[in-house]
Amino acid sequence: MAKFLVKFDGEKCKGCELCRNFCPKKIIVMSTHINNKGYCPPMIERQEECIGCTSCALMCPDGAISIYKEED
Ligand code: SF4
Ligand code: SF4
Repeated sequence: MAKFLVKFDGEKCKGCELCRNFCPKKIIVMSTHINNKGYCPPMIERQEECIGCTSCALMCPDGAISIYKEED
């Protein structure tokens, strides 16, 4: 079964939380790390539950999210 890896470019993020709001699995949470722009970028809480729907990447206005598919 395919697994998905979601990566955030924390320095591009503006902390808008759209990715978090649109994730159907609710596995995106905002971190406490502050980037160079003064925003807290998100992180994945339970990577194994990601279904690779790409909603988070499509919603991100700053192109800060990449999704990778890994086959077993
Ligand atoms: S790809 Fe889909 S399920 Fe995975 S983190 Fe993004 S919105 Fe959530
Ligand atoms: S949608 Fe993009 S800019 Fe907004 S919080 Fe998520 S990663 Fe950051």
